[in-house]
Amino acid sequence: MMHQVLDKVYKIELPIPFPLKTVNVYFIDDSPRTLVDAGIKTEASFETLKKGLETIGYSLKAIERILITHGHIDHYGQAKKLSVLSGAPIYIHSKEYGRIRSFNHSLGFIKSILLRNGAPEALVNEAIQYMESAQIMGDPLDEAFFLEDGDSIFFKSMTWKTVHCPGHSPGLICFLWPEKKILFTGDHLLKEITPNPILNVNENKPPFRYPSLQEYLTSLGKIEKFDLSLLLPAHGEEIHDVRGLIQKIFAHHKERMERILFSLSECEKTPFEIATDLFPDVPPFEIFLGISEAVGHLEILKEKGIVKLKEKEGKDYFSIQT
Ligand SMILES: [Zn+2]
Ligand SMILES: [Zn+2]
Repeated sequence: MMHQVLDKVYKIELPIPFPLKTVNVYFIDDSPRTLVDAGIKTEASFETLKKGLETIGYSLKAIERILITHGHIDHYGQAKKLSVLSGAPIYIHSKEYGRIRSFNHSLGFIKSILLRNGAPEALVNEAIQYMESAQIMGDPLDEAFFLEDGDSIFFKSMTWKTVHCPGHSPGLICFLWPEKKILFTGDHLLKEITPNPILNVNENKPPFRYPSLQEYLTSLGKIEKFDLSLLLPAHGEEIHDVRGLIQKIFAHHKERMERILFSLSECEKTPFEIATDLFPDVPPFEIFLGISEAVGHLEILKEKGIVKLKEKEGKDYFSIQT
């Protein structure tokens, strides 16, 4: 549950009711005492964090600053509750802020995207209901401060840098601790799972597609250039073989792209149909992730002129460019 990763850095695993089971938050015992990510807002999550800090002699009130890697509920859910309790200010990238402030407002929009990508209505309603119910696990952040790429995060005995890595989420930030060659990666890099670039809701930019996978791969290239010896992710174990993991993720996406082209070689398909070919057993609430992955690749293939897009009766169909 709680373990010391290195001098001043403690990792606390908090429970989440999702397939990943836990989210890692990191407590930095320097001045100001800082929490990296916050977990969801449930009793179990709150108690686990409380007990974790108690083992090193602190109460939750000792937290003096909260850094959020990105605006997914398992990362920011209980940030506001902790902030109210401790007085600690919350920091997040500006691109995540709008979503966190008014998530429910986006649900109607997500629904229209899922339908447009060919998902059946009953399934879409089930997915939306699930997303709605998940909202009780987080409070909107209405008074967060913004971080941008390259910003310094000052501590008494060290200075970190903010590294903007859009892809999994448009405003995802990693935190670089240069002297130790450590990067706190949020969900940008995880050991066992390939982070899914999430299809993004951009109401200002119809037709609602956002090059999330392309951006993700670009961000991965950015991380590859750093000299790093340890990654501290928000789910799962620490990563020592940084280059190896990055190569594995690049290879994974290359293979996915080939499977999508194979799936399209039969006939034209909607992103939903491709997602069902890729992930036949995916539970309804994860269909959004499946479609996100398919759309990410289709956008890249379309840019390269390999596939083309046709709209029919309000739905998107992709086919191989002949
Ligand atoms: Zn995430
Ligand atoms: Zn996560």
